[in-house]
Amino acid sequence: MANFAEPKGILELKPYLDNPERQALIVTHRRNLRSLRENLHHLQFGFISTSARPKFKQSVPKHKLNMKPITLKEMSPTKDHIYKDRAIELIIIEDPNLFLPSIHLVVEDKNGDPARLCIYNVERTAKKIVGKLEFGCKIGILNPYLRISLDGSHGLRVDDPKCIVYQGRKKDMCRFCGEENAGTLCCLCEKAKYCSEECDEYDHKVMGHGLICDEDGEWFRNFKGYCKRILIIILVLVIIYYFA
Ligand SMILES: [Zn+2]
Ligand SMILES: [Zn+2]
Repeated sequence: MANFAEPKGILELKPYLDNPERQALIVTHRRNLRSLRENLHHLQFGFISTSARPKFKQSVPKHKLNMKPITLKEMSPTKDHIYKDRAIELIIIEDPNLFLPSIHLVVEDKNGDPARLCIYNVERTAKKIVGKLEFGCKIGILNPYLRISLDGSHGLRVDDPKCIVYQGRKKDMCRFCGEENAGTLCCLCEKAKYCSEECDEYDHKVMGHGLICDEDGEWFRNFKGYCKRILIIILVLVIIYYFA
């Protein structure tokens, strides 16, 4: 008799997704994105944020060749440190948040470990580089700086945007699991893509997709469609009334 094994769930296939730190980073980032859109969307590139001065200043390496790869696990989460002559490969897993003078992102490394990433000194180039820092973009950072914040949390910091190496983009990346060629759109915003119903459900229920989901989008599009149809009907009735 054929033995049909239960198909594995996404958290079994990719256990790193079931990480409370990842969830907290993503939900906080989405909450910030939402408040920025709701309150300050008209100040798109003018919002000023402040932060404590960092201990060190991260900068572009003198020699870019022979940089040794590093992952987040190999960095100490308690030590403010610049990993010189090292390079970390990352994928951007949330849309950029422009808290000028910096750009805030959530990234994961090749092990699927998540981190907050803040890029400074971008005031003049923000508009130019933000398109290369969207969800699904792949980047490398040379001389990465793991910075400990005043509240004890840690994240990556870039002071010299020349340390970022842009490496293209994953095509149609699933909002939850990161798989490429995700074919299902969120039925409300029609922007977020998912590779399965399971990923769609996790992203909505666990990661707070509702915070960034443009629910009004579809409603407003439908409303505009209805208005157009009603106007056409009125116009036709007026024409019939006058020419009949
Ligand atoms: Zn997925
Ligand atoms: Zn949505």
